[in-house]
Amino acid sequence: MRTILMIDDDRLQCRLTEKLFEKFQGERFQLYSVYTYEEGLAELMEGRHAACLLDYQLGPRDGLMLMRTALAAGATTPIVFLTAETSRAVDTEALNSGALDYLVKGEITAGALERSLRYALKLGETLAELRRLATHDALTGLHNRREFDRRLVEEVARARRFGRPLSLVLLDLDHFKAINDTHGHPAGDAVLKAVARRLADGSRKTDRLARHGGEEFALLLVETNAEAALTQARRLLSVIAEAPVTLPDGTNLTVTASAGVAELALDGDELALVRAADEALYRAKASGRARALRA
Ligand code: GH3
Ligand code: MG
Ligand code: MG
Repeated sequence: MRTILMIDDDRLQCRLTEKLFEKFQGERFQLYSVYTYEEGLAELMEGRHAACLLDYQLGPRDGLMLMRTALAAGATTPIVFLTAETSRAVDTEALNSGALDYLVKGEITAGALERSLRYALKLGETLAELRRLATHDALTGLHNRREFDRRLVEEVARARRFGRPLSLVLLDLDHFKAINDTHGHPAGDAVLKAVARRLADGSRKTDRLARHGGEEFALLLVETNAEAALTQARRLLSVIAEAPVTLPDGTNLTVTASAGVAELALDGDELALVRAADEALYRAKASGRARALRA
């Protein structure tokens, strides 16, 4: 049974809501209640509930702030806002802060609550799908360039704040245009998919892997200096080259790639990091391809 998170410091309200849940005509839900701002935030960040009913009044802080904080930190649980008063200002603010619906406590019936949750759940699914489309590359399923750039800024800031190493690998397939020209565009697509899978299988969960451009991939390695990143890049190049890719027409084709590696400089920003990796990649290409070089 899917759970609905309720965040409300009024325990009576939680029990009343549970009673309403028993009258639902369609899908049954289990209500999971927490009574404080902190617990509510933690539950939302964990993201294990299908939707959330969030109370406006939460001790010294309010539900609007909780919602803004959670959404800004990446929470994606659909939220329906609850309040005791009918105020247009609160309604508008709830909507602008990311609530999918707004219910006035005294007026809630089982039917209205069930409808609201049903709509919030459906809208939540649609938003999740849109979010996936906006952040992922359709062909390979990897993160797209835009999502990579966003994470790059985040990781560079984190690495600088904590004085931790951060390295970037830019990896580009060799003579890829010839694969398209000889075997056709669908064959090129199959190669891109196969390479993406090998890269994903060969990377750690904490690494940020993305399709950076047409036949170029980017791998951001946290807590990793240039030396270790170079070793990792060489390992990935071997994984790509060691077994042939089977094309849609059954042909087996061996592909190689080149890589450029750079480590974030103490006073460097993301632009300088990308430029340095790109320059190393250029040298790897110019010196014969199928190799990784560091900046
Ligand atoms: P180099 O070894 O110097 O990297 O040469 P290259 O041929 O790999 O590089 P180039 O930049 O000349 O060609 C890249 C080609 O990748 C051109 C473009 O048509 C192709 N390409 C880009 N995106 C896709 C895609 O999604 N699918 C397919 N099949 N081809 C793509
Ligand atoms: Mg290429
Ligand atoms: Mg290229």
